Amino acid sequence: MRKSNYLFIFLIVFFVNINYLSADQTIVNNDSAKSLIPMGIEFNIDVLNRENIEDIQVKFKVQGRKSFQYEYLDLDNYSNGESLKYFFSTEQSSRYIPPGSKLTYFFEVFFKDGSSYKTEKKEQTFLDSRFKWEKVEGDIVTIYYHGPVSRRAKKMLEACEESVNKISRLLGVEENEKISVMMYNNYSEMFDVVVKKSETQASSLITEGQAFATENVVLVDGGSRSALGVSTHEITHVIVARASKSSYLGVPLWLNEGLAEYGNIEQDQGYERYLEWAIDTGRLFPFSSLNRFPGNPNLTLVAYGQSKSFVEFLINNFPEGSMIKLMDEISDKKSIDDSFISSFGFSLKDLEAQWKEELGISIFDNKDDLSGSSNINKESKGSCSGGAMRFEVSSLLLLIFAYFVKKVMNISKLRQKIRFL
Ligand SMILES: [Zn+2]
Repeated sequence: MRKSNYLFIFLIVFFVNINYLSADQTIVNNDSAKSLIPMGIEFNIDVLNRENIEDIQVKFKVQGRKSFQYEYLDLDNYSNGESLKYFFSTEQSSRYIPPGSKLTYFFEVFFKDGSSYKTEKKEQTFLDSRFKWEKVEGDIVTIYYHGPVSRRAKKMLEACEESVNKISRLLGVEENEKISVMMYNNYSEMFDVVVKKSETQASSLITEGQAFATENVVLVDGGSRSALGVSTHEITHVIVARASKSSYLGVPLWLNEGLAEYGNIEQDQGYERYLEWAIDTGRLFPFSSLNRFPGNPNLTLVAYGQSKSFVEFLINNFPEGSMIKLMDEISDKKSIDDSFISSFGFSLKDLEAQWKEELGISIFDNKDDLSGSSNINKESKGSCSGGAMRFEVSSLLLLIFAYFVKKVMNISKLRQKIRFL
């Protein structure tokens, strides 16, 4: 009995001592971060006392983005024993971080004597805090879902893995980092986390999916009937970005969207009807003008239809490896024309003529006068619903891409899907 009491006292003294020693060695007791997305991210740090502390910074980097950013914690309201918190709001577009992003973060404590101490770097995935997420994981893709939709999530995982493998082979992407797909159950759940392009869009359009190539994240409305098509289209954009490396903005819009439709496992027959209509009425656009898609909904569908058709033509009629070469050339920041000549052996214009020939279009039918962005603009204000469908593409600069937008349109009393970049 006595012996064990001694042992007990010895252990207490021993542990108190350890605590004392570690407190001496470092001033930081604990640090953590938690997602409050869609509002933001909260960083926490416990310091044992703040007497000698001049400042504390939290430094963090979203995986895929180039640099760390830092913020100063407010030390004025510190009271002993309480955690210091820093709330980083993600609600403004310039501070936006898509849910599913992985962050690396650490704190740096600056002391009054000029020295400083860094906490260990931690990595964490930040999910949408409003739901309790589960996940299914494949080799490259992870689908996050919530609620009784695990079967749907597994189907989406299979579809996404299939598309990622197919497009990676096509474009020569050998190593793939993980991609997070956040599967929401309906549009209203997703509304608060998608990037709204403009007021017009926010009020009139429904985004079914959004790809964030830099952050390796795709958001998708899993409740939509075309959820598998949307998710595979979006995830293809992520692979195109990887294939074109730092020159993603150099990938022409028609090529990016045409490839995304090629990667879409539920290809939309509707595009073919629009393509036929455009051929019959001479409304095809020269690809050189399709770095921007027209605002008019019917013509947007033409642009998607012809991009998809042309990309299929290029894949089916040229040696395997041509697309890989094209992506390499674009990655090397060569012009589009030079890139096509060295990878396909023809200029874009020549390839376009061959494609038209295959479709049975006389090149003399081509209304070249439809080309040019000014004419596209004129078209977009044409017979349809005035300016209501004009989109801003300026956020290209933010490297954030939004696609697959649908709207219930009065035009021709048809329910149509509109996709845009
Ligand atoms: Zn797209």
